[in-house]
Amino acid sequence: MARQVKSRMSPDVSEDEVNTRPSRPPKPLKATAQVAERVSSERFEELYATCATNAHEADGGDGAALFLKGSMAEHSCRPTAFKQIRAGSGSVPQGETRLVVHALRDLDVGEAISISYIPEYYPTWLRQSMLQHGFNFQCGCERCLSGGAELCCCFVCPECEGPCCPPGAVYEEGAYELLRCEDCGLELHDTELLGALKRAERCEEFATTMSGKLHPYHFKIFHMYLKHLDQVPAGTALQILPQLQEAFHRLRPVEKGHPLHAQLAQCAAECWEKVEDEEQEAGAGSVALGIVGER
Ligand SMILES: [Zn+2]
Ligand SMILES: [Zn+2]
Repeated sequence: MARQVKSRMSPDVSEDEVNTRPSRPPKPLKATAQVAERVSSERFEELYATCATNAHEADGGDGAALFLKGSMAEHSCRPTAFKQIRAGSGSVPQGETRLVVHALRDLDVGEAISISYIPEYYPTWLRQSMLQHGFNFQCGCERCLSGGAELCCCFVCPECEGPCCPPGAVYEEGAYELLRCEDCGLELHDTELLGALKRAERCEEFATTMSGKLHPYHFKIFHMYLKHLDQVPAGTALQILPQLQEAFHRLRPVEKGHPLHAQLAQCAAECWEKVEDEEQEAGAGSVALGIVGER
């Protein structure tokens, strides 16, 4: 049975903070008076559309930049690469901004280089909605079309407390009539219970019964923990970190270079430094090394 750290909602975390929000495309570009004088409104609209479609967030979200080659990386919900914007740091000279694309695995010659425009740990219906509303396209990537189990919509099995997920892709919020337990194989189609789980997923029963119904692998628990990791005591964060790592690994094979992995590893190292209790420190060390040293 998969290891399970019980999710417990902190009462001071509001429902609003748990609800996920779509990431946004780069901020609109504004023409200076000088540009407006020289460019017709049609041409400006065309330029704006080109920028809005192809620009990457830069300056920590305060700006946008266009990169000729970088614009050619397509989106995938299971990408083969990730990007980094570097400005005047490392090998990038002062005053220059570069987009660096790192492959997440060995790529074949001619294979498409894809990056994810949104965080990957979301169910199909939410990823599609974020891409449609934030980037104006319908995602037809291999993950969206494969119809595999909806691993991010994960509930607590009423029989064994294992992870219970819809066995196929879900294209609309709450549109599942069946859940299957990964541990005991239970098939759950009790309408009343499914209704209660759907309400818990929408956080309608927040802080009362929801935490007993959503499995730690559920995307709302995942993102709530990820967002608040730096606000919980180091010892607690070290208990949560392997759970986040385990949840994410269900989506894709272990990739040491993935940015999320780097984020978790950094957080583990910081927590290790913070814990003071000797016994806790030994445990913290093994968690941190487990994440940092993973291959
Ligand atoms: Zn997709
Ligand atoms: Zn079960």
